[in-house]
Amino acid sequence: MKALIVIDYTTDFVTGRLPCGQPAIEIEERISTITEQFVAQGDFVAMAVDLHEQDDPYHPETRLFPPHNIRGTEGRQLYGALQDVYARSADSIYWMDKTRYSAFCGTDLDLRLRARGIREVHLVGVCTDICVLHTAVEAYNLGYAIVVHEDAVASFNGQAHEWALQHFRNSLGAQIVSGSITADEQEAAPADV
Ligand code: ZN
Repeated sequence: MKALIVIDYTTDFVTGRLPCGQPAIEIEERISTITEQFVAQGDFVAMAVDLHEQDDPYHPETRLFPPHNIRGTEGRQLYGALQDVYARSADSIYWMDKTRYSAFCGTDLDLRLRARGIREVHLVGVCTDICVLHTAVEAYNLGYAIVVHEDAVASFNGQAHEWALQHFRNSLGAQIVSGSITADEQEAAPADV
């Protein structure tokens, strides 16, 4: 059993108030396709979406970043085609508000994965070096196998993106995959002739 965790692919993080910009725009189709595939396969899909309150004096990000993903704003909407995928499959996707970088922090994600016997998490979304990284680190500490879809993660910082991919591979033992072939399909694929 495996799960897909789609991290922070919202308007604010792609083109809005705290934008990754072009690198995030470029993964729109891939992140949507992967999400559709996991839904179609009946795998567990979590839509992990940052949630902040306006001018929250108690939140550590208030002094680190401009306001973003504020409750009730359009900036919290999923970006582009992913919004359509979610609208079509909302019954099969677990919408999960999160208030810290990691999708595991302060959420019931670990409990839900355990209840389903899921030991492998696939990560897509933004930013590679912030929320995807922190989610991956916590998944590692909790003992999950990690698969990062290289062509469905992005950052505003190209160097940090590359560093994070190396860290996933070398320090968290993550499998880094890309292209239309998922890890399972690679295993199932016949050898080259
Ligand atoms: Zn945030």
